[in-house]
Amino acid sequence: MAKITANVYAETGFRGCNPGFVVTREGVVMIDTPQMPADAIKWRDEIAQYGPVRYLINTEPHGDHFSGNYFFEGTVVGHEGTREAILAASVEQLKERLRQTDPESLALLKDYRYRPPTITLSQRLTLYVGEHTFQLINIPGHTPYQVAVYIPEERVVFTSDNVFYKVQAWLHQALPYQWLDSLKLLEELEADVLVPGHGKLCDRSYIPEMRAFVQDWIDTVKAAIKQGISLEEAQDKISFLDRYPMEGGSEPMGQQVQRWNVARLYEVLQ
Ligand SMILES: [Zn+2]
Repeated sequence: MAKITANVYAETGFRGCNPGFVVTREGVVMIDTPQMPADAIKWRDEIAQYGPVRYLINTEPHGDHFSGNYFFEGTVVGHEGTREAILAASVEQLKERLRQTDPESLALLKDYRYRPPTITLSQRLTLYVGEHTFQLINIPGHTPYQVAVYIPEERVVFTSDNVFYKVQAWLHQALPYQWLDSLKLLEELEADVLVPGHGKLCDRSYIPEMRAFVQDWIDTVKAAIKQGISLEEAQDKISFLDRYPMEGGSEPMGQQVQRWNVARLYEVLQ
């Protein structure tokens, strides 16, 4: 766990997303939750020393950000689309995945249930807790429902998966052009530290590199469409695996992720 500023903590070493939390005068505000049950319990015990969890903000509709909600107290806050995704999520599928990746953790899921946001936003929402401000901003890109969490008093922003720091990005549900705009918005927030959805902590100087990655994906798939290359052929040909590694633990999915990314862009750019 890294202490980023006087009151902000984040963890970039867990499997899955990078969760974080902010210690305010009136309790703790969490941003996302650890994916693996054992990590979630460890994280809960570490956070307990800083006070009760008041709010838990989910930055996006993917399970590696929200499946750990179960282990925590606090009112869940997130995008309307994230609420829909959580309501539609299957507990059986989650258990099946864990059966393959960490079977021992199944014992920790006895009364497991998903916890969807009970406070939602579609564009913006501001929480005032203690002396801290949490600006939640919908920044479509990696999915339509991404939410950045900007804490101006700490000059920190949690970017959601719109920033993958030097690891492969997932574009399987992307809105690619809006993603470029959202990165511009992130670059303009007055923050010294960015907590990316995946990969190590970074700062605003990384945004142009992330933009270039999304732009290169767009250009490459667009060129393939223009040349009349079929989707299947494009999927066989296009890969960005040589640019960044897959995040630790998901290496075997590298090829498949490239194919999903191509399929999504092929569909939306046509
Ligand atoms: Zn994601």
